[in-house]
Amino acid sequence: MTPRWHRTRVRHASLSRGGSGAGGVTYDEVMTTLTERGTLELYEKTGALMRGHFRLTSGLHSDIYLQSALVLQYPEHAARLGDALAAPFVDAGAQTVLAPAIGGILVAHEVARALGVRALFTERENGVMRLRRGFTLTPGERCLVVEDVITTGGSTREVVECVRASGGSVVGVGCLIDRSGGAALFDVKQAALATVAATTWPPESCPLCRTGGQAVKPGSRA
Ligand SMILES: [Zn+2]
Repeated sequence: MTPRWHRTRVRHASLSRGGSGAGGVTYDEVMTTLTERGTLELYEKTGALMRGHFRLTSGLHSDIYLQSALVLQYPEHAARLGDALAAPFVDAGAQTVLAPAIGGILVAHEVARALGVRALFTERENGVMRLRRGFTLTPGERCLVVEDVITTGGSTREVVECVRASGGSVVGVGCLIDRSGGAALFDVKQAALATVAATTWPPESCPLCRTGGQAVKPGSRA
């Protein structure tokens, strides 16, 4: 595949130790193969990003629903997203890409393919994120942690901790879509192809319910 390189604004956040501004996030221009708009268009045209009135698994209601599996089911889209997410990290020296199972596996695979390195995934065992299936890291192995969507950053943080506990070093954190509103910050280089501002409410205070709408749960049988 020949990447078509664009100069675009990829959210390329780094922690500002001074702690200034909106969470200390800064934005740089980097070269990538997919713009933020292009990323969201791929999500929308495959039904992976829906706008409306949704009931999430957590029970909260939301105006946005993201299901990355619906865009990643198309290998050509997965490859484009992986190429684009790899771009900000080409100089990071990553030897391995890791993601939490299940949602991140294809993302890690495609980013790793673009970087020419291997892809691992972590799984929870008794509630703790671990490398299983015989996966190991060599001492100091440089790892890039990726995700499909970062909402709170919780599972990404667990993978970062898993890498460090396994002897590796984390050289970056990347996700296809950041819906944390800038709240998920890491102490390493960080990039997202797109950011999405989604609002969630408890059902009793949902403004979409108040206007008489009915929340739907995508993917469930009617
Ligand atoms: Zn509602």
